[in-house]
Amino acid sequence: MQKKRLFIVSNRLPITIEQTENGVTSRPSSGGLVSAITGYLEKGGSESFSETFWAGVPGCTEKIWSVATGGIASAPYSYLPVFVNWKKYELYYNGFSNSVLWPLFHYFPSFVDYNTSYFDAWLEVNGIFAEQLAAKLRKDDIVWIQDYHLLPLAGLLRDHLPGLTIGFFLHIPFPSYELFRLIPKNWQRTILSGMLGADLVGFHTIDYALHFLASVEEVLQVEHDGQHMWWENRRVKTDAFPISIDFEKFHHAFDHPSVDEMRRRYLELKGTKKMIFSVDRLDYTKGVANRLKGYEAFISSYPEYRGNVIFVLVIVPSRDVIIKYAERKKIIDESVGNINSSRGDVVWQPIIYKYGHLSFDELVALYTTCDLALITPLRDGMNLVSKEFVASRKDGRGVLVLSEVAGAARELTEALLVNPNDAAEMAAAIKAGLEMSPEAQRERLTEMQDRIRTYNVYTWAADFFRELAVVKDAQLEFEIKFLDKVTKVELLDSYSKAGKRLLLLDYDGTLVPFARFPGAAAPDAVLLGILRALGENFLNELYIVSGRDSQTLEKWFDGIPVGLIAEHGAKVRHRDGDWETSTIAPSGDWRSKMEKIMQEYVEKCPHTFIERKDFSIAWHYRNADLVDGAVRARELYDDLMRPAGQMSLNVLNGHKVIEVRMRGINKGAAVGHILGRDNYEFVLCLGDDQTDEDMFKKLATREDAFTIKVGNEASFAKYNLHNPAMVQALLHTMASYAPARPLR
Ligand code: UDP
Repeated sequence: MQKKRLFIVSNRLPITIEQTENGVTSRPSSGGLVSAITGYLEKGGSESFSETFWAGVPGCTEKIWSVATGGIASAPYSYLPVFVNWKKYELYYNGFSNSVLWPLFHYFPSFVDYNTSYFDAWLEVNGIFAEQLAAKLRKDDIVWIQDYHLLPLAGLLRDHLPGLTIGFFLHIPFPSYELFRLIPKNWQRTILSGMLGADLVGFHTIDYALHFLASVEEVLQVEHDGQHMWWENRRVKTDAFPISIDFEKFHHAFDHPSVDEMRRRYLELKGTKKMIFSVDRLDYTKGVANRLKGYEAFISSYPEYRGNVIFVLVIVPSRDVIIKYAERKKIIDESVGNINSSRGDVVWQPIIYKYGHLSFDELVALYTTCDLALITPLRDGMNLVSKEFVASRKDGRGVLVLSEVAGAARELTEALLVNPNDAAEMAAAIKAGLEMSPEAQRERLTEMQDRIRTYNVYTWAADFFRELAVVKDAQLEFEIKFLDKVTKVELLDSYSKAGKRLLLLDYDGTLVPFARFPGAAAPDAVLLGILRALGENFLNELYIVSGRDSQTLEKWFDGIPVGLIAEHGAKVRHRDGDWETSTIAPSGDWRSKMEKIMQEYVEKCPHTFIERKDFSIAWHYRNADLVDGAVRARELYDDLMRPAGQMSLNVLNGHKVIEVRMRGINKGAAVGHILGRDNYEFVLCLGDDQTDEDMFKKLATREDAFTIKVGNEASFAKYNLHNPAMVQALLHTMASYAPARPLR
């Protein structure tokens, strides 16, 4: 297979450009996302693509960039800088991304700054990304968009190039709908529809994926099957891909001479004391203030540790231009000062606090010196620090105390998991951890190491690309099923050449779209005109095959030369005949029993109603709340199944309707009788819901029959058409074909 070009897109380019007195310098950036993707590409990933590009904001002016590019070290990708006006960037980055999305998605709604200018700039910057990228992209390229800064980008890019293969990955949590609904509705719609521009939407955990699906269902009224949904004629998939680290890099770093030397020094300083360690970016989501409370509770609850434990707390500077971050720094500084002054003494300082960056060697030396890593974010999409700590403990020693609401807790189940708000639980876990036997430490670490080693950063990206390819292939396969131009020509050709032709047309959802109430979906003059023209062609035998009652059909199609099949085949009226009723008679009090059960659901589920017909009774829920209706429909279906089975009735799960009718009556059986009435050389059958599948199944034995499902779901029909408008267009073309012989 021919290799494709890959475009990775993130907010910032994975390179830092600095202008110093000595000129312009550049160095690769650090961070989880950069090392994950670079790691994947360097370990053979880039061989899957013909070329790889990384697009993002370079963090410098165009002029400086042009000077810097000469000296940029080689990387497994070419850089595509996206230049954005600095003021706009501030509103997009510090504004909407980090003062709206970040706090909201991390469950800090009270920190959200609902500023419309932030949103406008955010959308505008995403538009700039889309335009600059679109100028470089070709339709068969693969684009992989990273993170919350670029939520609308997939949708915007698809407007430029509809056929692109686009993956999107969110590196932070996706919150529950109850949180998501707090932002204005147009923001909600922009975010969700933008994300659905991708073919595959990836999250760190299944919980985040389910939250996303719930929001899509509520806000966009789009249904899903737990993983897939239809959006603008594409089948979009969501899934969980827990990001990981370069396991071997951290594991082997244990033996690096420089790390070893540093560790010896730290061990000497630590002496016989136990050492607790944590490192976080400055961020309110990291729960540092709560962690300090937990540590304080530990010292006061277990006085034997006074003077015998130290907590090395490292905070890495981040986003400190945002007020909430600067405030956080003050809170931590004060809290550390208070604990050291009130709990410590002249010979013992309970906390050693550093505000600054660590080199890789320093980081690994600290990971491998400590007795316990205390990592307790209040929310974290994944948390790589916890994985790095586990990976670096080649010595099999050390205990991880981890917040149960960090994404990593799903995988690191052998850690001591704690509620980050519960100081007493944290204190008890620290004690248990410090006193854990060496064998238990090794056992737990080994389990976790095995897991991270197997699902490492390479697997993460490779897994994502594999699934993206599968999703795209499935989309293409499905597209072929849609009645394309070639098949349409075939159909019309076969229609025009045939002697007798049979046209079987379902009504609701097929010839006309659904209306809020059944009575409101009457055919208009255009549709009646098409049906009349088709029916008047003496070669055509046309039937409306409906679940509706006979009176309605008779009224609506009065004077139109068509046959009518009512109530899914319980009643039939041929073109020039009278109504014939099925010999299967309803028995006893089936109707009142079924109606009683359905009535309960009418009361439980607002905006639902019952439709009563001669041979069936139906509960409609198309006007109910989407989620509520679907849940109640499943319940009602189950409630009806047992009594229905005892009374020779069938329960049907139709399109937004649950219907009970006599067993043996279905559209398939009705169509079977009609097929036997003549020798048809052309058969066309159109339907949209479950009840029409009986017709499609019946016709499956006739290879030459054209069976078409209206809608996007899989079906026994050979082809799909998107909607009733397309059905009407097809029938209109057929009706305008000159009759092969004169009319009667
Ligand atoms: N880290 C860093 N500089 C430091 C200390 C740590 O870049 O001075 C790295 C650390 O090794 C880890 C990342 O920062 O890979 C933090 O990732 P995590 O998922 O824990 O938190 P995030 O900062 O992404 O919210």
